[in-house]
Amino acid sequence: MVYFRYTRNRNSRDHGRANWPQTRLPRSFSLNVLPTPPEGRQMSASQPARTFSWHNLGDLQLGRPNLGPMAPVMAYRLMQFSLWDALIGELGLEKANDLFRRAGNMAGRELCQNLLDKELPISEFIAQLQKVLKEQLIGLMRMESVDLETMQFTMTIAEDLDCSGLPCTSEIVCQYDEGFIAGIFEEYTGKIFHVMETDCWASGARVCRFSAKVIGDTGL
Ligand SMILES: [Zn+2]
Repeated sequence: MVYFRYTRNRNSRDHGRANWPQTRLPRSFSLNVLPTPPEGRQMSASQPARTFSWHNLGDLQLGRPNLGPMAPVMAYRLMQFSLWDALIGELGLEKANDLFRRAGNMAGRELCQNLLDKELPISEFIAQLQKVLKEQLIGLMRMESVDLETMQFTMTIAEDLDCSGLPCTSEIVCQYDEGFIAGIFEEYTGKIFHVMETDCWASGARVCRFSAKVIGDTGL
């Protein structure tokens, strides 16, 4: 049995890290790579300046004619949790989680722009999102409640790509998903969303549950 993340216990997380040789740390990563907000505009965790785009994913048909576009969850989690741990080692847990939310937000916005129809009414948009998340093997989404007046909703994702099957640490670990969901709905609505995971496989639940609400306008 192989686990792909260290314990997130703060006391044990720093174990031995101070003695790591420099080569264990990301060589090119620095705070300088963080996007700079446009002048006169505050950048929130859910509204990053963007340089990443769908184009960065490349031409998978050209590049992987034999292997195809899919890869094992193991490969995804190897990258995800090793990167997360490297960021925590360099910047601390809170900053690393914030960066994961920002990255998820960019991904969600790009996914919405490229795989979803933003012109659909909300109920059809949600149905399409559900279908795409299943097709892309990201998770099985179910909307538990939607309040269109207050723009608040609760949704679950079963068999979540990020966390399903992880050891139980009594914590939520899907910060990337929080940003991802916010990014999708920000792109769709033009509003800024705050998304919080309230249940997670890693916290002992068997689905991830997210509550989302609008907190402002994107100015788009
Ligand atoms: Zn989760």
